[in-house]
Amino acid sequence: MSPEFLLISKYFNLYKTKAYKGIGDDAALIKKNDNYLWAISTDMLNEKTHFLPNTDPFNLGWKALAVNISDIYAMGGVPKFALLAIALPKVKADWMGKFSDGLFSCAKKYKVELIGGDTSRGPLSISICILGEVLKKNTLLRSNAKKEDDIWITGELGLAALGLAKLQKKIQLPKSLSKKAIRALEKPMLHSSIIKIMAKLSNSAIDISDGLIADLDHILEASKVGADISLKDIPMNPWLKKNKLIDIGLSGGDDYQLLFTAPKKNRNKINLLNNMPSIKLTRIGSIKEDKRLNIIDHKDMSYKIKKRGYDHFESK
Ligand code: ADP
Ligand code: MG
Repeated sequence: MSPEFLLISKYFNLYKTKAYKGIGDDAALIKKNDNYLWAISTDMLNEKTHFLPNTDPFNLGWKALAVNISDIYAMGGVPKFALLAIALPKVKADWMGKFSDGLFSCAKKYKVELIGGDTSRGPLSISICILGEVLKKNTLLRSNAKKEDDIWITGELGLAALGLAKLQKKIQLPKSLSKKAIRALEKPMLHSSIIKIMAKLSNSAIDISDGLIADLDHILEASKVGADISLKDIPMNPWLKKNKLIDIGLSGGDDYQLLFTAPKKNRNKINLLNNMPSIKLTRIGSIKEDKRLNIIDHKDMSYKIKKRGYDHFESK
């Protein structure tokens, strides 16, 4: 178990809950009525930990809400309401205006209403709590991946981590890629149009916030299964492959793509979703009974990555 998860399990995950689902998934679930559950989740963005000082305030407002919406989508749900807790070191009208515009442009795009929150002085920190609705029979639990399920992911991996490396001056990038990568980091776009249908066609899901391998591991652990994934099938920007930086695609954080596992029999239906505008769903492997995660390279050999994903409490 990772240090972050050890902390949660040792100090917070201590008691049984009356909720339908408590700690351990992208969102907790509470019974709403016979057919629907409420999904509730919270995610925090802290300056210097989650974003660099001087990040564009519009993008920050967008991202603070988007990362929360992403957790509701990862349950197969529809986001509805949000609460915003914000600590500000000082109030600058220009910054506030742009932050608010970014927040509400995300809220409008993904149909979320801000219904409460808390505002105080302190080091810049933004925490949103989000509430969404899930059709009970289509709920996507991390613990429900089944043997032989196909593993699907949306979009392309590694761009956001590349954007961060660029902003931290750790890497040189071609200009157009640099712009694209920083945009992926600062303004993640979500896949609202496929959630309902993927919830119907899939068994489990997670959003890729800490890196593909780390987040797939959460599904495997919760479902007590393993997986084979094929390196050549993992969608990454060609620049990463060309420069032998595939580990950035495998373990880089902040992409907010979604990973689904779905029965083989739904393969054609899922493939058809690729005809929708700006949707890219790629099958990267399958779930196995044997509890290991095998990354298979182009020579059919097992590929070893150095770092599995981002962890807030890993010793450096
Ligand atoms: P995600 O990446 O989807 O936001 P995390 O990996 O941060 O999820 O958290 C894993 C699980 O642990 C989630 O179910 C989350 O709600 C729970 N969790 C995280 N921190 C705490 C905490 N301080 N108290 C209780 N539960 C927590
Ligand atoms: Mg999540």
